[in-house]
Amino acid sequence: MPSPHLLTLHHLPAEEIRAILRDAIAFRAAHAAGTLPARLAGRTVGTLFFENSTRTRTSFSIAALRLGAEVIDLPVAGSSHAKGETLTDTARTVEALGVDALVVRAAQSGAVEVIARRVGCAVLNAGDGRHEHPTQGLLDALTLADAMGRTDTLDLSGLHVAIVGDVVSSRVARSNVFGLTSLGASVTLVGPPSLAPASLATLAPHVRVQHDFDAVLPHADAVMMLRVQFERHGDSTRMASPAFASLREFRAACGLSTERARRMKSDAVVMHPGPVNRGLELDGEVADSKRSLILRQVANGVPVRMASLVRCLNALPAHN
Ligand code: ASP
Repeated sequence: MPSPHLLTLHHLPAEEIRAILRDAIAFRAAHAAGTLPARLAGRTVGTLFFENSTRTRTSFSIAALRLGAEVIDLPVAGSSHAKGETLTDTARTVEALGVDALVVRAAQSGAVEVIARRVGCAVLNAGDGRHEHPTQGLLDALTLADAMGRTDTLDLSGLHVAIVGDVVSSRVARSNVFGLTSLGASVTLVGPPSLAPASLATLAPHVRVQHDFDAVLPHADAVMMLRVQFERHGDSTRMASPAFASLREFRAACGLSTERARRMKSDAVVMHPGPVNRGLELDGEVADSKRSLILRQVANGVPVRMASLVRCLNALPAHN
């Protein structure tokens, strides 16, 4: 039975992932042709973000609005949550206001699933702590398929993706591990042991951990750089972390500098979920180069979120 929630890509069958991506491709084409259907007319989508977001919230809102839904951005700072209400109470209150789908971002891993179990509306995970960011994983898979000429098949077999940097703190890395390997790619997680511990290789089949970026770089078809998540290292100055001795050391170990990018395969691509710490994990010149898919990732976020919202809302029992 299809689920009204999208919480994780773990154990989501490849055929289901491909079905969502095929819908996204159809929405993308319909938008370009000016023929987008009002598939969400009469629906209300609420966004509830307990953590900052630049593109995810906007992207979900644009997706819902273009399909004819009403969108309510629920305030969190200054809300009852700040007065001590639990996450679940906040979500249930919002649901009682007549929301059909809630898009939730939370700082705690697993919190969005807890909310989904307690409410009757559809729940989409927009990032929960270090756990998962499933729509990011989906949009990354679509962007990679497009770049590699695999849009028709959505089969990523034979492709080697390096996911580099602060892997241990990254929900984007986890969702990509599950999404990309499910579609046939192999993934190497790269970083010093404090950021890419060997145990991460057990996340899924076809995943390896390698500490030497320079050994992986010439063999990767795609290099996905991750933001250093200072806020998860307990440092608010963005200058230091117990995970590495200095910013210079981090950059030397796993920054994608202009010089390093020259050693990539000639047709290899660079990805980053944003926001980028320019000059740290990724040089500005590389982020803006022809290899970079960063803005295509952002653009694909909209149709992927359209497809995700429609899938979840269609699976709500009240809909049938
Ligand atoms: N925007 C992504 C996330 O929310 C990546 C990041 O923040 O580094 O996980």
